[in-house]
Amino acid sequence: MSEELNPFKMAQQQFDRAAEQLELEEAVRDMLRWPQREFRFQIPVRMDDGSIKVFFGFRVQHNDARGPAKGGIRFAANETLDTVRALATWMTWKTAVADIPLGGGKGGVIVDPSSLSTSEKERLCREWVDAIWKNIGPRTDVPAPDVGTTPQMMGWMMDEYSKLAGQYTPGVITGKPLNGGGSQGRTEATGFGVVVTIREAMKYLDIDPKGTIASIQGFGNVAQYAAITFIEMLGGKVQSVSCWDREDRCAYTFSKAEGIDPFFLQKITDQYGTINKDEAAGAGYVIEDGDAWLRKDVDVLIPAAVEGVITEDAAGQISDKVRIIAEGANGPTTPLADAVIAERGIFMIPDFLCNAGGVTCSYFEQVQNDMNYYWSREEVLSKLDQKMTVAFNGVLRKALQHEQYMRDAAYRVAIKRVEWAMRLRGWV
Ligand code: GLU
Repeated sequence: MSEELNPFKMAQQQFDRAAEQLELEEAVRDMLRWPQREFRFQIPVRMDDGSIKVFFGFRVQHNDARGPAKGGIRFAANETLDTVRALATWMTWKTAVADIPLGGGKGGVIVDPSSLSTSEKERLCREWVDAIWKNIGPRTDVPAPDVGTTPQMMGWMMDEYSKLAGQYTPGVITGKPLNGGGSQGRTEATGFGVVVTIREAMKYLDIDPKGTIASIQGFGNVAQYAAITFIEMLGGKVQSVSCWDREDRCAYTFSKAEGIDPFFLQKITDQYGTINKDEAAGAGYVIEDGDAWLRKDVDVLIPAAVEGVITEDAAGQISDKVRIIAEGANGPTTPLADAVIAERGIFMIPDFLCNAGGVTCSYFEQVQNDMNYYWSREEVLSKLDQKMTVAFNGVLRKALQHEQYMRDAAYRVAIKRVEWAMRLRGWV
């Protein structure tokens, strides 16, 4: 992996830049450049054929000064400790910028979930909890779904933890299924929040959202609900989405000049986010290479897949028409690409601000679990809209005040909040 693409190097470079700008004290830098705690463990799982397969799992708690560590678990074939460290670090900034009383963590397993049967997946989830349960909990570290994990998996993990703890403990994990301690609105929360930040950016840039056009990378959970909300909330059009094709082992872009129909595409997408090419072609979709989404003449680009996709080179290929990049994914833009985007004057809504809707709704889920009283979908989404709007405008104010790129301003807000909590607690 090149230095430009190592996600933890990226996270540290972004932090170092912000630390310089903020003239952070040495001890604060030392604490925040690295995670507080890291766990790496073996997970032996009995497979359906009776054999035992040993997987590797991780949990990284980057910082818990503002509250229990919080963040998803990824099941991915290319998972590494550095990826999990980077994602845990970004979670600390995400919960801080959203101003929810939580810290940052992330977990993972090196596995291609599509290679497992349902019962093997269940055993892997339960074994993951068995290996780490003493180090997670509603008041210590609260996992959630991410790439490759689902609400059903969160349900199994919650059940396993509750058995080990000897009591029903729904608040140990979020993103659970409805009727299994989950919250209304959690499924669409991240994509919904992405579009709230786009709406606010358009207000600031004086763009009428009606009729604006977006191109999206990915068609997993975040991308699907970003597409639906972009159309429903803003009256915009989504021209392209892309996906990873598991069989062909490459990505494709699916476009329609009059706008894609996200509900139709959902119907022909499997549980791992692969769109059926034949059915899409039959319905008139133009299918191009996986990077084509980035070169479209649109108003908004929404990278909503994985990290490290907008490199310096890719940033140069973005159309002059693009006004906003809204990072639905974690870490899609490398620091070298950021320099190109800032120079070109494209308005950036940075990942840990843009996609904070998921974890904010997770926080609401925990609150409802604690109260044992559940809100309606409307109530959840209206609270979420409010939180995201305040978070976005708080960062925008700092960006204008300090004449900064939005990512730098978001770091300023987040780091200051975490530093303050560490000082109050007497850590530094
Ligand atoms: N995995 C999501 C994220 O990266 C959600 C985390 C959570 O809900 O804790 O923000």
